[in-house]
Amino acid sequence: MVYGRRFSDALLPPACKLCSGATEGTLLCAACTTELPCNTPACPGCALPSVQAVLCPACQHKPRAFDAAFAAFVLATPVQQAIHSLKYGARFQQASLLATAFVSRLSTRIEPLPTLLIPVPLHWRRQWSRGYNQSLELARLIGAELGITVDATAARRLHATPDQIGQTAAERRRNLKGAFAASPRVAGQHLALLDDVMTTGATLEELSRACKAAGATRIEAWAIARQPLARDNVVM
Ligand SMILES: [Zn+2]
Ligand SMILES: [Zn+2]
Repeated sequence: MVYGRRFSDALLPPACKLCSGATEGTLLCAACTTELPCNTPACPGCALPSVQAVLCPACQHKPRAFDAAFAAFVLATPVQQAIHSLKYGARFQQASLLATAFVSRLSTRIEPLPTLLIPVPLHWRRQWSRGYNQSLELARLIGAELGITVDATAARRLHATPDQIGQTAAERRRNLKGAFAASPRVAGQHLALLDDVMTTGATLEELSRACKAAGATRIEAWAIARQPLARDNVVM
């Protein structure tokens, strides 16, 4: 597998990609790996932290618009700070660290990887004011590590949605309805949709609906970190 090969090639001499300390031939050293707030086990349907890697009652009752979800970490120290400084402080070095840590969590994956990686698009006005899309920065690095093509223009955000901080899950769903359009290029593809943080999952679900409507066959929702709150009310 592509990323298996890269793991060994990239480590001569072996050095932890986070702290440059010695490793056992892995991307991250044992100390860094232990300190990361790995989101495991988690529900494979919505990526919420769980006691077992089986579908949670909510996913059993009502499957999400995507077919599977994977969030490498829980939104906690130090991942939370790294995402924040990438998103609001343009610290691109953080994207590299986060992407490396994310990929290291996929090293034990046995299922086939997606064929196309699509970052959650920002509305053009927000991207213009921020100057970049943090999810695209992460997708480029993750796609390169895993050997998955990144298509940053396969999905578009049709209208600007208000900042979602403080909104309830129901408000998020309402504001996002019809927010995305997907290109026919996704037809027949196994997609991974990438966001920096998965909060309620409403954004990734709405984007999944657009991609399914355009003919995508399988969709995985990927996020660097998962907001651990399970409650269906005001979230950060
Ligand atoms: Zn380390
Ligand atoms: Zn679930």
